[in-house]
Amino acid sequence: MTGTAETAGTITNWARTITYSAREFHRPRSLDALAALVASSARVRVLGSGHSFNRIADPGPDGVLLSTAGLPPEIEVDAAAHTVRVAGGVRYAELARAVHAHGLALPNMASLPHISVAGSVATGTHGSGVRNGPLASAVREVELVLADGSAVTIGRGDPRFDGAVTSLGALGVVTALTLELEPAYEVEQHVFTELPLHGLDFAAVAAAGYSVSLFTDWREPGFRQVWVKRRTDQPVVDFPWATAADVALHPVPGMPAGNCTEQLGVPGPWHERLPHFRAEFTPSSGEEIQSEYLLPRTAARDALDAIDSIRSTVAGVLQTCEVRTVAADTQWLSPAHGRNSVALHFTWVRDEAAVRPVVRRLEEVLARFDPRPHWGKVYEIPSAVVRRRYTRVPDFRALARSLDPTGKFTNAVVRDLLTD
Ligand SMILES: Cc1cc2nc3c(=O)[nH]c(=O)nc-3n(C[C@H](O)[C@H](O)[C@H](O)COP(=O)(O)OP(=O)(O)OC[C@H]3O[C@@H](n4cnc5c(N)ncnc54)[C@H](O)[C@@H]3O)c2cc1C
Repeated sequence: MTGTAETAGTITNWARTITYSAREFHRPRSLDALAALVASSARVRVLGSGHSFNRIADPGPDGVLLSTAGLPPEIEVDAAAHTVRVAGGVRYAELARAVHAHGLALPNMASLPHISVAGSVATGTHGSGVRNGPLASAVREVELVLADGSAVTIGRGDPRFDGAVTSLGALGVVTALTLELEPAYEVEQHVFTELPLHGLDFAAVAAAGYSVSLFTDWREPGFRQVWVKRRTDQPVVDFPWATAADVALHPVPGMPAGNCTEQLGVPGPWHERLPHFRAEFTPSSGEEIQSEYLLPRTAARDALDAIDSIRSTVAGVLQTCEVRTVAADTQWLSPAHGRNSVALHFTWVRDEAAVRPVVRRLEEVLARFDPRPHWGKVYEIPSAVVRRRYTRVPDFRALARSLDPTGKFTNAVVRDLLTD
């Protein structure tokens, strides 16, 4: 079985802001079919759950777009070893449920659980928490199908490992990953309202819970909401800076809170509190464009003041801005590589022409903090500048050449990054 060819030219990302320009679209149903398809194609890019906002998954008009959604959704928990081996196309929601059923947990999750595991770790996707690295930090081993259809497994301890997880899909098809787990834990979620920017002790606020998110629409110089996710097995940290909300809230003002995870301090399983959005609901309308930048955490206060200086420009096209923290990791292409980071996220209105100039203006005021853009979101920083912000690009380039000598898995985004 070689997989099913579907109508290329009609496949879009989740937000329907990108129509992939692939010559062919395939959703193979077995690993053998996938390997045969890869081996016989000249250019391939993999599509996960399509939640990226730029052309990172697009193979270009001469390429094949290959979805992993049709492959068997394997989830094999090893309860004794505290690990799970999961097929790359599985989404975090299904993974979390399976892991929890064994009394185990992931260390962290992103804001919504509908994203695929391989696609998330490929772009450096993260949640929040001063001590929580990106989701890729939990990966212990990655299994790839390479350009010639052969398979390779790269695990921790292999000198290639730090290039192999947050790899932008440039090395091969990630068919499975092994993740480290910990015993299941409970989390209670408290939302606080109206935290002023003036006098903000960012380090203290960010450390007030296991995972903390600050939300603002930048219409005022402060935060409308702060979401504090506390593990019930960790000491309670006071939050004296703002008032606790007495009703459940959605991070975008005016949107109904019904599809958000439970708040008001009701304890619950980790996977039903760490994401902001419930697994059983569509997270939002998709009427959005997203951007995000990771900066050294020590620059958080100055960076927030810099955004405040162009507040009305930003607010004009903004739905919500979320500020999180991410612990440094070692993946060469991770936006958190080598530095404890503050992550500044922007959910824009879905109006590309209006948003792009604001993105450029925002990047101008943030430039002095060496921001690294989220690989899956919209940015305007030239590739040459992005490249300079990653010291290990030469190592990644060498790894990509050794695993994919003909550049079968490159596309315009990857080529721009890797070309000197
Ligand atoms: C509503 C919403 C909320 C979000 N929340 C967060 C958040 O909280 N934190 C955060 O950091 N990001 C967030 N994101 C961004 C999102 O996590 C990333 O875009 C992520 O890459 C999405 O995973 P995906 O499977 O949809 O990837 P896709 O968009 O499908 O692909 C992304 C990249 O991964 C590659 N890829 C996918 N699968 C494979 C595979 N099996 N093998 C090899 N390469 C592969 C693709 O080729 C592409 O380069 C959010 C996005 C949306 C739409």
